[in-house]
Amino acid sequence: MARTRLQKCTACGEYGLGEECKDCGGKMITVAPLKFSPQDAQGARRRQRENAGSDEWIQKLPTPRKGDEEE
Ligand SMILES: [Zn+2]
Repeated sequence: MARTRLQKCTACGEYGLGEECKDCGGKMITVAPLKFSPQDAQGARRRQRENAGSDEWIQKLPTPRKGDEEE
C-alpha cells in the first residue's frame, strides 16, 4: 500500500489527500507529517499533565466489556 502524504491547501488551509483542495479547489502542498517517536518522548510529560493512573483518568478510558468474556 502506497504511503499517503498529507496535503494542505495553500488557499484555505484545509487538509486533504488529493492534489486539489476538496473544499475550494486550491492547490495542495505536501506537508511534513507530525513528528512521531515510537519512544514518545513527550509521553511522560503528557501523561503527567493528564494525571494518568489516577482514578479520574481511569474513568475517562474506554471501558472494556468484561461481561462478554466471562460467559
Ligand atoms: Zn482549500
